[in-house]
Amino acid sequence: IIEARNLFKKYGDLVAVKGVDFSVEPRECFAFLGPNGAGKTTIIRMISCVSPVTSGKLRVDGLDVTRDQRRIKAMLGVVPQTDNIDPDLSVIDNLLVYARYFNLPPKTARQRAEELLALFQLLDRQHSRVDDLSGGMKRRLLIARALLNQPKIIILDEPTGGLDPQARHLVWQKLNYLKSQGTTLLLSTHNMEEA
Ligand code: ATP
Repeated sequence: IIEARNLFKKYGDLVAVKGVDFSVEPRECFAFLGPNGAGKTTIIRMISCVSPVTSGKLRVDGLDVTRDQRRIKAMLGVVPQTDNIDPDLSVIDNLLVYARYFNLPPKTARQRAEELLALFQLLDRQHSRVDDLSGGMKRRLLIARALLNQPKIIILDEPTGGLDPQARHLVWQKLNYLKSQGTTLLLSTHNMEEA
């Protein structure tokens, strides 16, 4: 479902990604394991169509990232490394505002948001300010938000970085559930246990 051949990314003279090949099968959980600066985020940004490929081939579900950005973005859910949740909005409003990017009718958006909050054990915090959530709760909210458009593929950049073991296990448990439902997972990590 994702295929890279001889993938390169250069920032000026710096070669951030040097001739990488990989294939991700549908419904599998695929992880990039590597130290800080290895190029994991850079590859994720190229797959997500937010950073152009310097050279090589990169296809998502048969579509070329240099040509079919809109169609690719529509099938992806992306959980970034840094939390970019809006602190001025409540938990549920963060999801409802995000749902507008996908033109979801308001009723569908609310129903889906509530289902996702329930799945990620945040329903009782739906009216909380985001600033009042713990780090683990914010991470779960970020993942819930990435699932609003029912993506075929979910991409997670260090999904459990900075979380305690219990919070980490809860995230893993939810990711396992998504995999069992047929979602393809692609994640980056420098945690060997997570990989
Ligand atoms: P981490 O585990 O710390 O997130 P990473 O494996 O995700 O690391 P990248 O963030 O992809 O690594 O960075 C790979 C290399 O590309 C690094 O040397 C980094 O400094 C460089 N780099 C990343 N983004 C840019 C940018 N926008 N401009 C210039 N150089 C960049």
